[in-house]
Amino acid sequence: MRGGNSYLGSIGTTIFTVMSALATERQAINLGQGFPDTDGPEDVVRAAAEALLDKRNQYPPMPGVPELRQAVATHNRRFYGLDIDWQSGVVVTSGATEAITACLMAVVDAGDEVVLIEPLYDTYVPVLRMLGAVPRIVRLAPPDWALPRERLAAAFGPKTKAILFNSPMNPTGKVFSRDELDFIADLVRRHDAFAICDEVYEHLTFDGLRHVPIMTLPGMFERSLRIGSAGKTFSLTGWKVGYVTAPPNLFPLVAKAHQNLTFTTAPNLQRAVAVGLAKDDAYFAGLATALQACRDQLAAGLARVGFEVLPTNGTYFITTDFTPLRFNGDDVAFCRHITEEAGVAAIPVSAFYEEGDAPRHYARFAFCKRPEVLAEAIARLEAHFAGRRAPKPLTAAG
Ligand code: PMP
Ligand code: GLN
Repeated sequence: MRGGNSYLGSIGTTIFTVMSALATERQAINLGQGFPDTDGPEDVVRAAAEALLDKRNQYPPMPGVPELRQAVATHNRRFYGLDIDWQSGVVVTSGATEAITACLMAVVDAGDEVVLIEPLYDTYVPVLRMLGAVPRIVRLAPPDWALPRERLAAAFGPKTKAILFNSPMNPTGKVFSRDELDFIADLVRRHDAFAICDEVYEHLTFDGLRHVPIMTLPGMFERSLRIGSAGKTFSLTGWKVGYVTAPPNLFPLVAKAHQNLTFTTAPNLQRAVAVGLAKDDAYFAGLATALQACRDQLAAGLARVGFEVLPTNGTYFITTDFTPLRFNGDDVAFCRHITEEAGVAAIPVSAFYEEGDAPRHYARFAFCKRPEVLAEAIARLEAHFAGRRAPKPLTAAG
């Protein structure tokens, strides 16, 4: 019998699913897939529950319920000074995952080139390929993940239609600097291209750093699509409510992409997210402060275990170099090993690379967990590696 889609047939199941399944099977603490282990704000959850009971459970308007679209517009003004008309500037999607696809559908035609920055989130390349677009990948190098400006400039050419990038960035925790954003914006303007920015971690920045949407830079409004996620902003990752902020010239295209992908998103969740976006400044500041403390706890613990811990200024994630632990195997083997033998799951960072020559000695740990869970994970890793920090290298099986 004939096969189905050959590209999908050639790719694997996402690493997040693979590692979460292994963590469950081995009853490991899951510091792999990024999801908080506490519920989001009670008033937001309650608003969703109440919204289920008030008999507005049929299809909501295609681009999103007015309450949420208005709340996204207000949020844009409040945090970034962006002047957005909610009716011609906001599309609600089923998670940022759908938003990424909808934004790419909105700007690219088959054959167009899209510049991507590696390490990259794992849906970017598959979606681009399924659209028949061509990824042009530029790699950041650890430990500082600085933007390689010459290589980025060289990746832009006459066929470039867009750049898609993620700031604050998963898995590196990099928050793009204003100077780097200016450089990207300049390339986008000069090549008459678009910038699609995956900003799901917009409120999860640390050490006083502020997220700057590229959309706010001079001449960038009409060229930018800005993606947010209630999952990250309200610690409710299972809800899958995302939102795209678009200029009026791109809004109809994003809306039509959404119309053909999912058409709508659960109305009760949308209305509850509107309640969340209206929360006071203390909520947004408190979210970052609490996560920063988790980052500090996990970073210190992993350093004690013997990892080289790379700096992270945002997101849920810490990247570590496990070379000092003298494990004899690559990052995939290492993450399996610690899940199975130490009872702590992590994500191999090579999963965020498209090309075969990815670095293979980094593991990503999520710190969006309760302090006692992080403490237990560190204790398990310490116990595991204390007995094994032997002069002779460990084997992958070992
Ligand atoms: N982009 C990035 C960089 C992510 O880490 C995630 C993970 N959740 C998403 C998009 C997807 O967000 P959502 O769950 O809202 O679909
Ligand atoms: N964004 C999450 C992560 O990086 C995973 C989301 C998913 O599993 N698709 O861990």
